[in-house]
Amino acid sequence: MIPLAVPNLTGNEKKYLDDCIDTTFVSSVGEYVTRFESMVAEATGSVGAVATSAGTTGLHAALTAVGVKHGDLVIIPTFTFIASANAVRHCGADPWLMDISEDTWCLDDQVVRKELEKNCEFKGGVLVHKPSGKRVAALMPVYTLGNMPNMKAFRALADEYHLPLVVDAACAIGATYEGADFGALADLSVLSFNGNKTITCGGGGAVVGCNQELLDHVRHLTTTARVWPDYDFDEVGFNYRMTNIQAAVGVAQMERLNQFIDVKRHVRAFYEAHLAPLSPKDISFFPTTEGSSCWFSGIVLPENAELNQAKEFCAKLKEDGIEARSFWKPVHLQAPYQDCPKSKLDVAEHMWQRIITLPCSTGITDEELYEVTKTTKRIL
Ligand SMILES: *Cc1c(COP(=O)(O)O)cnc(C)c1O
Repeated sequence: MIPLAVPNLTGNEKKYLDDCIDTTFVSSVGEYVTRFESMVAEATGSVGAVATSAGTTGLHAALTAVGVKHGDLVIIPTFTFIASANAVRHCGADPWLMDISEDTWCLDDQVVRKELEKNCEFKGGVLVHKPSGKRVAALMPVYTLGNMPNMKAFRALADEYHLPLVVDAACAIGATYEGADFGALADLSVLSFNGNKTITCGGGGAVVGCNQELLDHVRHLTTTARVWPDYDFDEVGFNYRMTNIQAAVGVAQMERLNQFIDVKRHVRAFYEAHLAPLSPKDISFFPTTEGSSCWFSGIVLPENAELNQAKEFCAKLKEDGIEARSFWKPVHLQAPYQDCPKSKLDVAEHMWQRIITLPCSTGITDEELYEVTKTTKRIL
């Protein structure tokens, strides 16, 4: 079986894990946590990083730190992993779901602008969503696949509407924007190190950025908001810290970040080169922006594809020993989020069922990639 995306643990992972056991530093303080945070901060062009237990908990802490509260709205794209919406709900807020752009699969800044102009007004300095009367508390684009939306436009929107700009950068480690790292683009950006991400800690996340005060607040929130040295707590905090064991794996992974990103980009290019004779009538490819970290690669069936064609296609690949899967089902089609405010969502609705992700582990070989393209062509 050629798997979809499995961890690549052939570096120093074992050695560093042994070290955690030998030193008894297995919990949320330790040398590896500190090292991991500085490696992640450097790789993202940030002044600091706060390692967390998961991407989802990092998102929850980041949204809390920028002031998202019960009864608020947070703008997110409908085409994202469910965790972006869950983190909003964990704050007691609702997502305001908006459409993506076809060229990036990221939140469309022009849709956001139109929706804000049409539906919002400032009341006593507070940005209010007129139809619901709720406060709009933050703007949260997602770096889908490690692609970057128009971040200059989002920065302008955030400034104009006095909205904190948080990014779900869960799958974007290694991506760049206009040749530079992304840490300074938003007030806070949140990474995930789950098992299927480019870099994994088994599970884990990190909040990064260039505003030290905000990062300090995130760290405080993730460590139960404790005021040392006594058992004093000055707000409702979380236990969201990453352990030294997770970070030990993470440090070993980060040592090979450049190599992993090279493989991810190579996989993307390989599929396009070897499957291109079929397009554009038969298939197209995932969009990439300049500097994309190409987290996942695959194909998109044509617009006239039958409803179940992608599922059948994955089943056929599986018969031939190749694991392929569908991708994110939009948030507005998920049971807990059907009643959330939303823009027109045509792009996401017309596209999500035609996506097929193909094997893209960082340990994949050219022989395996060739096998995938050969079988894909035959089935098509
Ligand atoms: C993976 C992912 C998350 C969640 O991260 P976890 O570490 O699994 O909690 C959130 N958002 C996006 C876009 C993701 O891809």
